[in-house]
Amino acid sequence: MLIQNARIWTNDGTLIDSGYVQIQDGIIEAVGSMTDLNVSDENIFDAKGQLLMPGFVNAHTHLYSYLARGMAIDGIEPYSFYDILAQIWWRLDKALDGPSNYYSGLVGAAEMLKSGITTLIDHHASPNAISGSLNQLKKAVVDDVGLRACLCYEITDRDGLEQADQGIQENLEFFDQVENSDDDRVGALIGLHASFTVSDRTFEKLLSDVGSRNVGYHIHVAEGQEDGVDANISHKKRTVFRLKDLGILNDRSILAHCIHLSEPEKDIVAEHNSIVSNQPQSNMNNAVGMTDLVGLLNRDILVGFGNDGFGSNLLDDLKVAYLVQKHTSNDPKTFDMGQAHQMFFENNYAVAKRLLGVDLGKVKAGYQGDLILVNYDPPTPLVADSMIGHLIFGMCSQIDVTHAWVKGDMVLKDREVQGINLSESYENARQEAGKLWSRIE
Ligand SMILES: [Zn+2]
Repeated sequence: MLIQNARIWTNDGTLIDSGYVQIQDGIIEAVGSMTDLNVSDENIFDAKGQLLMPGFVNAHTHLYSYLARGMAIDGIEPYSFYDILAQIWWRLDKALDGPSNYYSGLVGAAEMLKSGITTLIDHHASPNAISGSLNQLKKAVVDDVGLRACLCYEITDRDGLEQADQGIQENLEFFDQVENSDDDRVGALIGLHASFTVSDRTFEKLLSDVGSRNVGYHIHVAEGQEDGVDANISHKKRTVFRLKDLGILNDRSILAHCIHLSEPEKDIVAEHNSIVSNQPQSNMNNAVGMTDLVGLLNRDILVGFGNDGFGSNLLDDLKVAYLVQKHTSNDPKTFDMGQAHQMFFENNYAVAKRLLGVDLGKVKAGYQGDLILVNYDPPTPLVADSMIGHLIFGMCSQIDVTHAWVKGDMVLKDREVQGINLSESYENARQEAGKLWSRIE
């Protein structure tokens, strides 16, 4: 396949004003200027001068939250982060069933794709519909919408030991399925809710059942103050020290949020080369504080951006992170464009490489054909180094992705998701959302 007449931002130090990309078997084979184009291809796509760039990676999300938009239920008066979890999310997740798992995944993935995301890393919970839930999401996100996804189920003791054990089983069955598949669009982690809702007994069973498998874990860490308080009282150590002692910190483990970490805990994360994801919009909405991005980046920790299921445009999180790090530090030099670029355009792709084993994030020969075509006419010169500024101050709020490819397959064409009928899917999702809300106790 050949994409021609594109303005190509390679994320590899160059911007080609009028160029082409040739993709063979899902992999980028050649990139160059139109003046050097010397290939003929039967399958030619004319980009008509639009901006071609790598698709984005969402490093931590919750697709099940997409059917909560506009939800009004009784009994919500949160005074703390714990109240928000107990009064909203742990009531919602108990009401999820197979169809609502599927439709939340379908509309969530479709909306993310339209905002430029071509790979997502999800963290799922549906305690009364655990078995098969990860395959319901896989069908929605990967088979039907056509994105890449790394999935996990959140193990927790908060609904009882039977559900905790079912969570372990769902993760391991899906992990084994992925390990035995040659589809590099799908990855698997072992999901855990958070230290403060997982007992030593459940960790022991999990680690015993994992056995010799080479797994990474995906867990919320110190998102609110509750996590550290519980670890201190129940385990006489801080959260990250507990996770280290349990042996779940490795270079494929994602620690989501990491807001209330002590300096020694940050050192432990760095020593174990674990991944941190940052979700600033969700953090502000929950009033839990802000991750010390500079302190983590200065330790060479692989810290990237997720959205925690908050909307579908990851550029909003990029922009909010850029602003709030300065705002909370009272220092306009804190968290500069280079660090924002590193997290969004280097680290998120490095996370995907660790979890899915694929090279994403550059328009360059040998990289995957995961690309987005953006309708953007910049009012100022766009050069290779200025993309992050154009994203934060220009494209952010109204990114107009017209086409997208995953592994060379066109999954978005003229703003239409190719694998599904979106308006029909929205209608079905609305019906499932209504039923879901009526089941909430
Ligand atoms: Zn989360």
